[in-house]
Amino acid sequence: MIRLEMLSENGEVVPLFYDQHTSRLLDKDGFKAVDYTNNPMYDPEPSQRRPFIAVDYDQPGRKVREVRKLKIQLGLGCNKSCSYCLQAIQVQKAAATSTRDASEFLANIDGWIVNPEGMEKVELWGGEPLLYWKKIEILAPALITKFPNAQFSIITNGELLTREIVDQLKAWNFSLTISHDGPGQAVRGDDPFEDPHKFAMIQYAQKTFHPRFSFNAVLTPKSHDVNAIIDWFHDYFPGCNVGFEGVVHSYASDPASIFSIEQLAQFSDTLSRQLADGSALRSPAIMDKLRRSVNSFVNEQSSKTLFQKCGMDMPEYLAVDLKGNVMTCQNVGANGNHKIGHVSDFENIALNTSKHWSKRPECQSCPVLQLCQGACMYQGGDNWTHSCNAEFFYNLAFFRAALFILTGRWLVGFSGDIVRPKLKKDRDVEVR
Ligand code: SF4
Ligand code: SF4
Repeated sequence: MIRLEMLSENGEVVPLFYDQHTSRLLDKDGFKAVDYTNNPMYDPEPSQRRPFIAVDYDQPGRKVREVRKLKIQLGLGCNKSCSYCLQAIQVQKAAATSTRDASEFLANIDGWIVNPEGMEKVELWGGEPLLYWKKIEILAPALITKFPNAQFSIITNGELLTREIVDQLKAWNFSLTISHDGPGQAVRGDDPFEDPHKFAMIQYAQKTFHPRFSFNAVLTPKSHDVNAIIDWFHDYFPGCNVGFEGVVHSYASDPASIFSIEQLAQFSDTLSRQLADGSALRSPAIMDKLRRSVNSFVNEQSSKTLFQKCGMDMPEYLAVDLKGNVMTCQNVGANGNHKIGHVSDFENIALNTSKHWSKRPECQSCPVLQLCQGACMYQGGDNWTHSCNAEFFYNLAFFRAALFILTGRWLVGFSGDIVRPKLKKDRDVEVR
């Protein structure tokens, strides 16, 4: 049990006790601290969710042919060089693919996917996916026919948009996201908002795709004031959908991705207040994350059903390239240790590059486990420690705000048997 110090309006600090594995909140006498039965989110008969699979390097996860989410990596090439890019260290490891591979990919797909009606999402990924437009023109019409119930989406940096591309993606019924860090864009290089032609295309895309359009920002050491980021986009596009890809992870120990602990504490405190006063909820993605945080308490969500947040440990989520290589996820290349199999030998695909959160003592003991779900499953060493620290403070803001909504009290401290990771600077940084 984790002891939470909760400050009341009258200045009194009252302890509550929280179990991160059952999401139960108890008072000092062991009784339920809050009666949720009148909460609109309360579900008296929650649907049974299946248990997680404890994937580890020596306990590989499997994939199933009934794919529900298909992430197709078109290539890892990009026309930008964002300083914190997690794919940058993988570019040389991507298998080179051609438009011919795209045609062969389509010709073979019936051989390895069953139940195409069950496909829920198809995502086309780069690098920068619009660099691979010719492949998209081959793939998209066929995949739309093949997977009639799937939602199709693409995330681009927006630099290569043209009217024709926007119109075609719209005709194929894609949703469109532009990755852009708003006031923090400088760490990603030139800002397309400052180029009149590129900005006009972004305007056209926003108008064409609304409401299935969002700008997605990454929270970084240089730019992590959620309200400032929302305001920045709203100045250009009043009321537009501002999403957040979350807090930056560290993949190459680059300074652009590493917060200091002091910075994180301040960021967490500011975000908690922006959540509690509602100002950050102008972002639908932030609103949704807070709603899920509250829900974990109200429906006493068990950790036994928690997969990783990105879902790539799930058997039905598959990342492939156009050669049919299966990878840990869409962000890594198949010519390194992240190739976990091939669609032609489906039963032998083995996710042996990653660690489920239940295999990490830090996550097992973590107060924000239910909200974070373990950061990146394939990271290790100091990179994982940096990412974990960032996730810890980011999720602590939602944890605090959810507690405030449910109890009217403000979390001012916590204690318990909590294992936090430590930097191992004297060891080689492990990047699996
Ligand atoms: S914050 Fe760190 S320890 Fe906690 S669940 Fe996330 S990755 Fe695990
Ligand atoms: S394993 Fe998940 S969290 Fe890690 S890089 Fe891939 S998609 Fe992102």
